Amino acid sequence: MQRHSITRALNFPEYKITDLRLNQDGYWIQVEAYKRKPFVCSKCDEVHGGSINSVKKVSVDDLKLFGKRVRLIVVKRRMRCPKDGSLHVERVAWLKPRARVTNRFAQDVYRLTSITTNTEAGWYLGIDDERVYRIDLETLEDLAAKRLKPTPAAKNMSVDEVAWRKYYRYLTNVIDVDLRRVIWNSMGRTAEVLDKFYDSIGKEACAEIKSVALDGAMTYISSTSKKAPNALIVYDKFHVVQKLNTTVDTVRKLELRKARKEDRTDLIEMMDCKQRFILLKKKANLTESQKGRLDRLCALNDSIYKAMILKEDFLQVYMQQDEVSAEAALNEWFAQAAASGIQAFVALAEKFRNKARYILNWFKKRISSAISEGINNKIKRLKRMAYGYRDVRYFLLKIHQHCGLLSPRFSP
Ligand SMILES: [Zn+2]
Repeated sequence: MQRHSITRALNFPEYKITDLRLNQDGYWIQVEAYKRKPFVCSKCDEVHGGSINSVKKVSVDDLKLFGKRVRLIVVKRRMRCPKDGSLHVERVAWLKPRARVTNRFAQDVYRLTSITTNTEAGWYLGIDDERVYRIDLETLEDLAAKRLKPTPAAKNMSVDEVAWRKYYRYLTNVIDVDLRRVIWNSMGRTAEVLDKFYDSIGKEACAEIKSVALDGAMTYISSTSKKAPNALIVYDKFHVVQKLNTTVDTVRKLELRKARKEDRTDLIEMMDCKQRFILLKKKANLTESQKGRLDRLCALNDSIYKAMILKEDFLQVYMQQDEVSAEAALNEWFAQAAASGIQAFVALAEKFRNKARYILNWFKKRISSAISEGINNKIKRLKRMAYGYRDVRYFLLKIHQHCGLLSPRFSP
């Protein structure tokens, strides 16, 4: 193959190959600009005429060739800049200043880190974790400046909190329900945090928000009612069901503790963690043997039985045809929960009663809980993949990369 053809295959416009070697490490390819290529100053970004002072060789990684690693030796010309009188190298379009990899290599890093861990991506590309992290972070920051500024607004949105570390550190995600993607996020979960989102899209865009689904937190509710006056606030079904499940689990833990004190081996076995899921699933979704186990447990323990009934009955509220019958069913449930004597459910009913309006708003705007659930699961996976993110700024960007507008699969 002639050098000319390889130059074309390499695809760096206005650059030619001046040397090419193959050894055990892979290819070493030296490239330099054609003489006629104008000199673009890396200091002031302008084209300078005049004579070249000297050259500087930098070595960078490029995409693999025929399965082998490629190191490019880029010969950069140096010239005196008339603006500051000092020597500067030329700007190379396919290489960022001070980068140790080509832009297209950085793109590959970013595409790989959107589907796998940094360690795996690094192994595949032949670079260490630290370099993957630096390249990934820089690429995501560049993209964020293009796609997340100004803050994208949504007509129908959903607000969600995520625990990002132990000891209750939280962050807030805003999801565009129509796009099914995260469009904004920030550390914390106070009303002031969500206020920042509303302020950044501006009053006009806020007035156009039609619905906001949220997890029932008063902080989000108060921020939304203040900043998005025309939005219908919906207590997301996904989160209502989650609260019901947590409450059932609270009852289970309490009963398990009692059973241990009383040495009730039959009960302990049926209520331990492994059996937890039969209490959390909808009864209709259980297999015959799971149903049998649940029935035995309910027969043995009155509180668990009552808790299961309360949960299943609440789900009936969502089965109603319209808001009016749903309201009647909900009020009936409040009375039932209050009369149950199960402390955890008495407390939950009290909380739900204060937010009944938002629970019932679901009948006006039935936002699919699959969106919140899907994004929640992706973030959980992301947290597992990273083995703890060193800084929250990186984690926020990774959420955008895996669930938002910074995904390589998303084209604006
Ligand atoms: Zn200059």
